[in-house]
Amino acid sequence: MSQRTTCPPWCNTAHSSVDVEHESIQHVLETPRGDVALQLLQQPGAPVRMLAATLRPGTSEHGDADLALDDAEALARAILAQVAAARA
Ligand SMILES: [Zn+2]
Repeated sequence: MSQRTTCPPWCNTAHSSVDVEHESIQHVLETPRGDVALQLLQQPGAPVRMLAATLRPGTSEHGDADLALDDAEALARAILAQVAAARA
């Protein structure tokens, strides 16, 4: 019997057991100056976290941040505030 029904609704991993990391689809913003990818991850019994990765075009250089959901929300609010300030 599959335990798939206990995956969180955002999980997009084709696993038959839930005793592995849950992974969402990657949301990728592609830009000429580099791509930014966001993905939800959750180890069994651990809080959900968001991985934010940046990729430089034409290279294998990248950076990433492994964020708690509160941190991801704070980052999103900071981005909106900075964009609003830049457009004022
Ligand atoms: Zn899952």
